[in-house]
Amino acid sequence: MSNIYYEKVTSVHHWNDTLFSFTCTRDPGLRFINGQFVMIGLIVDGKPLMRAYSIVSPNYEEQLEFYSIKVQDGPLTSRLQHLKVGDEVIVSKKATGTLVQDNLLPGKHLYLFSTGTGLAPFMSIIRDPDVYDRYEKIILIHGVRYVSELGYHEYIMNELPNNEFFGEVVREKLIYYPTVTREPFYNQGRLTDLLISGKLTDDIGLPRLNPVTDRVLICGSPSMLQSCCDMLNDMGFKESPRMGEPADYAIERAFVEK
Ligand SMILES: Cc1cc2nc3c(=O)[nH]c(=O)nc-3n(C[C@H](O)[C@H](O)[C@H](O)COP(=O)(O)OP(=O)(O)OC[C@H]3O[C@@H](n4cnc5c(N)ncnc54)[C@H](O)[C@@H]3O)c2cc1C
Repeated sequence: MSNIYYEKVTSVHHWNDTLFSFTCTRDPGLRFINGQFVMIGLIVDGKPLMRAYSIVSPNYEEQLEFYSIKVQDGPLTSRLQHLKVGDEVIVSKKATGTLVQDNLLPGKHLYLFSTGTGLAPFMSIIRDPDVYDRYEKIILIHGVRYVSELGYHEYIMNELPNNEFFGEVVREKLIYYPTVTREPFYNQGRLTDLLISGKLTDDIGLPRLNPVTDRVLICGSPSMLQSCCDMLNDMGFKESPRMGEPADYAIERAFVEK
């Protein structure tokens, strides 16, 4: 099992009945680009049981952080949700993924569309100083059904803008737009509906989406990805990587429907 690191859980946080996050130690040999994912898991009956997980923590942090669903009968997460500080988790030695800056052409605004745990890769991207150098505005949209599913809401609203190293650039450039579909909240509705109607861009004071100026990274359910791709293709955006070349937008599945 030389392709696996054995790490120790250092903290666990339960957001609600269906979502939790945890941090663990990081082998110094694990290198990744912000936005990528690794395989993580547990040894079950002497064998590794692993699933793909986006890395929440930015690549300069000493620890790794993950944001996870709790699927009650899910082979991995029915167990993983009971993690305690000091438990062992396994992490693949190789990170990969499409939600990386090199897949995008230069642009003025970077839109990050996420639903559910699709927020995870963008948590590392919104803490990447290089991303702030590349764009005038970074717009993080997080769509969920219930307010309790807005993981990291307080952190993004209050802690990140006061970060001692890059709080100032976050205050100037990061726009966070959480939206809820199934209960009252200050932003309501599906991400694609809000973009197609122009409500979202009106709310944040930016022009409507445009492939000349805007770049998009997307992470969500298979159906959310489909509706986002349909919308962007209709607007003239081109998906990346196109024959290995950067383009206007890139997608990653937040999970696979089985
Ligand atoms: C590229 C990639 C990155 C991923 N990153 C994350 C991540 O950062 N956090 C995370 O929690 N999961 C992530 N996943 C999903 C993850 O790999 C597992 O599916 C999840 O941990 C559940 O594992 P399981 O063995 O308990 O159930 P599985 O047998 O893997 O899944 C059972 C069912 O649960 C549902 N499901 C699985 N994952 C999710 C989810 N995240 N949100 C809503 N429904 C889900 C699906 O309907 C699936 O068919 C990612 C998947 C991919 C492909």
